[in-house]
Amino acid sequence: MRVCASPSIMLVVNEIRRANPFPTGGVVRDTHGSVCNIGVMPPKGSSMVFEPEVVHAKYLAERDKRLVPGRTAIRDLTHDERVAGYRADPFTPIVDRDPVVDDPDVVIVGGGIAGLLAGAQLRKAGIERIRIVDAAGGVGGTWYWNRYPGVMCDVESYQYLPMLEELDYVPTRRYAFGEEIRLHLQAIADRFDLVTDALFHTGVTRSAWDDGAGRWTVHTDRGDELSCRYYVLAVGILNLMKLPVIPGMDDFDGRAFHTARWDYGYTGGGPGQPLTQLGDKTVALIGTGASGLQALPPLAENAKHVYVFQRTPSAIGVRGNRPTDPTFADGLAPGWQKARMDNFQSIMLGRPVDADLTDDGWTHHYARVQNPPRVKGASIAEFMRTAEELDYGIMEEHRTRIDQLVTKPDVAAALKPYYRYLCKRPCFHDEYFDAFNRPNVTLVDCPAGIDRITELGPVVGGQQYSVDCLVYGTGFEAELTPLQRRIGHDVVGRDGITLAWKWADGAASLFGMMSRGFPNLFVMPAPGQQSVVTVNYTQIAVLGAEFVAGTVALLEKRGIKAFDVGVDAEADWIRQIVETYVDPSAVMSACTPSRINNEGDPGGVKPQNTNYGRGFGDYFAYRDLLEGWLASGELDGLDLT
Ligand code: NAP
Repeated sequence: MRVCASPSIMLVVNEIRRANPFPTGGVVRDTHGSVCNIGVMPPKGSSMVFEPEVVHAKYLAERDKRLVPGRTAIRDLTHDERVAGYRADPFTPIVDRDPVVDDPDVVIVGGGIAGLLAGAQLRKAGIERIRIVDAAGGVGGTWYWNRYPGVMCDVESYQYLPMLEELDYVPTRRYAFGEEIRLHLQAIADRFDLVTDALFHTGVTRSAWDDGAGRWTVHTDRGDELSCRYYVLAVGILNLMKLPVIPGMDDFDGRAFHTARWDYGYTGGGPGQPLTQLGDKTVALIGTGASGLQALPPLAENAKHVYVFQRTPSAIGVRGNRPTDPTFADGLAPGWQKARMDNFQSIMLGRPVDADLTDDGWTHHYARVQNPPRVKGASIAEFMRTAEELDYGIMEEHRTRIDQLVTKPDVAAALKPYYRYLCKRPCFHDEYFDAFNRPNVTLVDCPAGIDRITELGPVVGGQQYSVDCLVYGTGFEAELTPLQRRIGHDVVGRDGITLAWKWADGAASLFGMMSRGFPNLFVMPAPGQQSVVTVNYTQIAVLGAEFVAGTVALLEKRGIKAFDVGVDAEADWIRQIVETYVDPSAVMSACTPSRINNEGDPGGVKPQNTNYGRGFGDYFAYRDLLEGWLASGELDGLDLT
């Protein structure tokens, strides 16, 4: 997928296609040489040197084991009643209530980070009547739903938890556990009074623009009818839980649930507490992405036995979590959080900085692979070779770490990732590998997936694994899932046109946040949706919220009833997005299939469904553009009524 490809690499994709059809990274061989790594020293304990052909062959062989028919098939959680229960809220009882008929100023769909920040900024802009609508039983979005044991955020807490300065809060650890994040988001909601009027356990079923009234009408599955002037879609990017299709899975006789709906009633305990009811239970953990690997150590500590079903090993770097230094907040100047986010984002985009304030795996590894060194006078082939060696060195560091931490060589071998670093979302953890040294943890390596599930549990390679409980750590539909699917309801604009119809061939917007034919509608920025991507999601949510509130403030000040995007402004924005698109297939098709490369079909992304600027997009240029647009006060590009 394009958002993961290096912008610099994207510049030369066409040349690479001619020069080398398999530009993957490398494994090595037994020569004790250390001439190979440019920018990355060969890791201690590694006895391999970089040989591109060997590496390409190994990586492609590993990819092919996983490119199997049906690997992307998922259950229909909305319409298939056999699996509808997986979505039920285990955390908050649903309470009967009467339908609400109301006419607030703003309706925000989604009470996660983006929705709360939009609400907070709108409050600051003087908007009084705001209603958040969310299918969850409270605020928090992803952090409401994901309460599995061990859940944490692997982006530094001092940047990820929003509004730290406004709330005068300092996170307790360098990387925050989920419950701390959820409670902080709750505190933001309370501070800006966003809960009192919120409608929880409520799904929007349809929303329609009424030109005569200059308002949106929003209908919900609780019979509510809300008429509002501004409508904000803040549904997030990981809101669709993914359950794979595995033959026989409905026959399983034990308890089965997804990590995003952890059943503490079954396991006992709670976030951060021992799982007191698992002592006599055998658990199957399916999935070894960021969620699955965080859940393993607590499961291993508490269950009788855990079978870990691994389809693709993640690249798992050092976490280095620690309590916040008591002196952390001393002397921090106002604006420090924004400056810290900018420092991180600068490093991610390969810009020079005075100091690396984050100093972790993202800035050490991710940023370096994204921005390989350019040697003056080097040819494209040489540049690509340098990039590949850099990547190889980092992946070899990850593989060597596994040898150092896992005592059984066959298990260590199976846990090693063989692909280029950006083929999958990198992970970070310090306790995951050690769990495999326990006698009650068994790795079941199944590159082609699980054969089937019987009433007893999963079957792989003809072997039945009998378990009491199945935990699906199988993630979410990709961040690139089109908005119309993520919002899950019809948004009907002028002349009865739906957003799904208009965006069927790709997003169509101004700034990725407003769309012609849908007056007074804002969409919070998302990857591949004509804005930009930030590794720290909070940073783009902050910018989106400031833009929405700033625009509403200008509209209110000028007494404007409705805005629509001008035809030329939208066409021009789309043109800019499409012009910077570079098909990443040449680089990414050699990747192991994953969410972030469109499951092995990286060229299948529509050019319109990409970002402002190459690759991830140019965050700083985008922000300057939005801030300049707001500062001018002209509302350029909008048709105003
Ligand atoms: P994920 O990264 O998509 O991982 C899903 C796992 O399930 C993968 O290991 C996948 O294998 C496996 N899987 C899927 N279908 C399978 C099948 N049929 N049989 C066997 N295995 C199967 O999902 P996630 O771990 O929930 O993470 C999702 C996203 O949430 C992350 O990328 C990240 O953006 C976010 N997250 C962030 C944090 C954080 O610390 N910031 C923590 C948790 C989650 P394959 O790899 O082969 O597809």
